[in-house]
Amino acid sequence: MDFCPKCEGLLKPVRKDGKVYLVCKRCGYTKPLSSSSSGYSATRVIEESKHRTIGVVEEKEELKEKVREEVKEVSQERVRDLMDLLNREQDQMEAEE
Ligand SMILES: [Zn+2]
Repeated sequence: MDFCPKCEGLLKPVRKDGKVYLVCKRCGYTKPLSSSSSGYSATRVIEESKHRTIGVVEEKEELKEKVREEVKEVSQERVRDLMDLLNREQDQMEAEE
């Protein structure tokens, strides 16, 4: 429960424009509800989702690294194949001359 800082009257939650405000029925003091305890949990959710995002990013980086390694291996094989092909063609050309 929140109390009015001005007159210490009880603050009642009032919904207005889709937001919830705490309104003092005695003096009319109004404050948004989000600045109270509910703000903490919202921050925590953001923190947790941030951690989750970082985890996913790290996984992605690992995957990228793996893919990069595989690509390197594959491309090395490809290069070797191409070199073989080139050498063979060159041999043939030399043989023909
Ligand atoms: Zn008040």
